[in-house]
Amino acid sequence: MKVISLTCNHCGAPLEVPAKARFVTCGFCEARLAIEHTGNSYTTSVLEELQETTAKLAQDVAQIKQSSEIDRLDSQWLQTRSQHMVTNKNGHQSLPTKGGAIIGGVVITLFGLFWTVMALGITSAGAGMGAPGVIRLFPLFGLLFVGFGIFMSFRMHHKADAYQKDLQQYRRKRQDLVDDITQN
Ligand SMILES: [Zn+2]
Repeated sequence: MKVISLTCNHCGAPLEVPAKARFVTCGFCEARLAIEHTGNSYTTSVLEELQETTAKLAQDVAQIKQSSEIDRLDSQWLQTRSQHMVTNKNGHQSLPTKGGAIIGGVVITLFGLFWTVMALGITSAGAGMGAPGVIRLFPLFGLLFVGFGIFMSFRMHHKADAYQKDLQQYRRKRQDLVDDITQN
């Protein structure tokens, strides 16, 4: 087997390698070397730069993978978010908020209370004038509204709560993925 003599490009030590070898690890400094044949002469170059390039490539691929995971998470979230949407009486969709739940409930409840008080006044006046007994039921409608207002308030509050939990979970997951990328 033909052996050629080389000099380590990293530490200058003499090296003997098979003529057909393309790579060698220096026995003195352990540098990984590429052997370059130019005509009848041989030179070595340190492979570190090549390794750095490979490492950089692997890192780029990992980043692309992670950013596509973020894209996937984002589109999943858009779907989840649309499932949380509530439709109001005008057909508009919006996300449930705890403030909205309380305001909505209070408006209905106040209307119910107003109705009850007005109806009680009318009913007692009507009863005095000999109106049919069925008008005594009018105040009860107001109380139904009060109950409905409280029920709606709790229901919307619950929905807003569920939405907030999902939103926080999504934000945490996304932040983890972003952290992974910035750490690399
Ligand atoms: Zn060396």
